Amino acid sequence: MNNGKKATSIEGSTLQLSTKSLPSGRFGGGFDSTYMRRCLQLARNGQQNAQPNPMVGAVVVCEGRIIGEGYHVRCGEGHAEVNALASVKKEDEHLLKDATIYVSLEPCSHYGKTPPCADLIISKGLKRCVVGCVDPFAKVQGRGIQKLRDAGIEVTVGVLEEECKNLNKRFMTFHRLKRPFISLKWAKTKNGVIGLKSEERRAKHHNLIISNTYTQMLCHKRRAEHQAILVGRRTLEMDAPSLNVRAWKGWSSESHQACLNGRVVTDFDKVKGKNPQPVVLGKNVKDLPEGWWCFETIEETLSALYERGIQTLLVEGGRETLQAFIDKDVWDEAFVETGEFSWAEMNREEGVEAVFAPTLKNAERVEDAWFMGHQIEQWRHLS
Ligand SMILES: [Zn+2]
Repeated sequence: MNNGKKATSIEGSTLQLSTKSLPSGRFGGGFDSTYMRRCLQLARNGQQNAQPNPMVGAVVVCEGRIIGEGYHVRCGEGHAEVNALASVKKEDEHLLKDATIYVSLEPCSHYGKTPPCADLIISKGLKRCVVGCVDPFAKVQGRGIQKLRDAGIEVTVGVLEEECKNLNKRFMTFHRLKRPFISLKWAKTKNGVIGLKSEERRAKHHNLIISNTYTQMLCHKRRAEHQAILVGRRTLEMDAPSLNVRAWKGWSSESHQACLNGRVVTDFDKVKGKNPQPVVLGKNVKDLPEGWWCFETIEETLSALYERGIQTLLVEGGRETLQAFIDKDVWDEAFVETGEFSWAEMNREEGVEAVFAPTLKNAERVEDAWFMGHQIEQWRHLS
């Protein structure tokens, strides 16, 4: 500590803490962001199973020592605050009256599948509560914070707020905008071709396959991470795609079905299996498989999904459908894969007309990744 720096190891990651930035007294506000970062780290452990609940982490600290920590493991089970407080050892319980609880999302104030966490924090007699961001869920929205303050607990709100919001961007978007979080996805050749026009394609029995084995797997991972998949009418009629998850285990696998897809199966009892709910955009769809939905407009689709509690939607094409979402400015992120070849190089047949990739608007490129020669760009919508 005498050189002004201290290295603290928290489960494999080393944080350099500058003591110069700390307040002169004992462990005070200067550590808030450090403990909140630990909350975020813990919260991410719930990525697979917390859905459709948000990922939340909590840390209980007394006099510079973490005496308890936890995260929301699984939907329907204890919240982060419950798990963190339950992890406090018996011999440390007397410290709770002087302790601070850090939570990445506002403690709940309502009776859901579990009792309100705000009540638990009050009953345990904690001194202070530091909250990452306010819960946009209609039944909470600041009520948890108010409840704690009314009980005389000191509450600080907004520590690492952007990171906390970003961690649960899907959940936040769903509750704030009252629509699912929308991801767009397409693959194109080097010269921007995403497909071939229907008539020619049918006549020549030609198919344009862009993805490689690895990016195919990523495509299935993305499907597993979304509760609904949307294709346009033309894609359905031309490709008859199997919009299920084949090359990835995830939220749609058997072990996670009860929480995520249970709702879908309950509401749409014709849907068989464990796949995300496929949605088709268009009208007069021929031979729509049993259990599929068909909507005429994007607005109609989004409100139907919202009403059914579907938080995430993956739009897989085709071009017109993708462009319609872009033009209406209703999307949140986009994944664009570029293959290793140009269409002309691959298909020497003449007279087969290409369909070119959609054009993003109001977009910011956030990441580029390479997989066996294929590039995947990740874009974010600028709202
Ligand atoms: Zn709670």
